Amino acid sequence: MSEQGIVTDIQRGSLRDGPGIRTTIFLKGCPLRCLWCHNPEAISPRPQLFFTEDRCVRCGACAWACPKDVHQVRSGSHEIDFGKCDSCALCVDECNSNGLRIVGKAMDVDAIMAEVMADMDFYLNSGGGVTLSGGEPLFQHSFSLEILRRSQQAHIHTCVETSGFVAPAKFEAVLPAVDLLLFDYKATTDEDHRSFTGVSNQQILVNLDAAYQLGKAIILRCPIIPGLNDTTDHFRGIRALDQKYPRLRGIELMPYHDFGNSKRPSIGLAETPLDLRVPGETEPNRWLEALAELGCAKVRIG
Ligand code: SF4
Ligand code: SF4
Repeated sequence: MSEQGIVTDIQRGSLRDGPGIRTTIFLKGCPLRCLWCHNPEAISPRPQLFFTEDRCVRCGACAWACPKDVHQVRSGSHEIDFGKCDSCALCVDECNSNGLRIVGKAMDVDAIMAEVMADMDFYLNSGGGVTLSGGEPLFQHSFSLEILRRSQQAHIHTCVETSGFVAPAKFEAVLPAVDLLLFDYKATTDEDHRSFTGVSNQQILVNLDAAYQLGKAIILRCPIIPGLNDTTDHFRGIRALDQKYPRLRGIELMPYHDFGNSKRPSIGLAETPLDLRVPGETEPNRWLEALAELGCAKVRIG
C-alpha cells in the first residue's frame, strides 16, 4: 500500500499555483500561525468538523446523532463545543442541509496519482503539472515526497508552495523532486516574522539559500498585509533578496484578502485579534511603484 496522508482538497484545472494548467493538492497541517492565514482549516494536521451557519435550519438532527454531546441546538441558536469532537462524522451524515462537513480526509498516494494523471493532456498542452500546497505541504514530508517523486517519474512538472519552515535536512531531501518552488517571504526581520507568524525566519532563510545554491527554480511569494508589512523596510528586504539571488524566476506580491477570517468560527477558532485591512483597488500598484523605485523590476502582483 502506498503512503497515506491527510488532504484538505484537490483542485483540478488551477491556473494560479504555478505555470500552465495544474492540479493543486492541499495538504493539512502547518506549524505557522500567520495572523492573516487564509486557510485556517488547514492548520490542524487532523480532520476536523466545519460548520456553515448560513445553511443550518436548527433541526437538531446533529445533536441527536452525536455521541459526544458536541451540538447544543435550541430555537435560534446552535452552539458547538469543537474541543469534544473526534470527527466521527455521524452528525454530518444526519444533516440534510449541508451545514456540516469534515475537512481533511485520509488518502493514499495511489488515489492522489489517479486524480493527477486524469489531466495529463492539460499539463502537456499548457506546460502545467502538479502543485502541493496547504497548510505547509512539507509538514507531511514523506507523503509529499512520494507524490512529487511519482509525478516526476510520470514526467509531470512539480511545484511546491512552501513557507520554508521545515528542518533543513528534510527540505534538502525533497528538493530533487521539485521543479519549481513557490517560496513565501513574509517579513524581513526575525522579530517581525515571530510576531506575524509565531516562528523565527532563520531556518527559512537557510532553506531559501540552500535551494538557490542548488540551482532550484524559485518564485518568491510575498503576502502583503496593509498595516503589517507594507513598509519601506520590508520592501527593501525584498529588494535585497532580489539582489542577492539574481536567478530568482520572479517575485509575486500577494495582496491580503480576508476570506480566512470568516472561516475561523466554522472550525471553532476565535477571530484574529487584529482588524486587518483589505488593500484598496489601487494600493497594490503603489507597492509595485515603491519596489520599482528601489530598483526591483521583476516583481508583479500574484
Ligand atoms: S443537522 Fe444540520 S441543519 Fe440540523 S441543526 Fe445540525 S447543522 Fe443545523
Ligand atoms: S463529528 Fe462526531 S463527535 Fe464530532 S460533532 Fe459530529 S457526531 Fe459529534
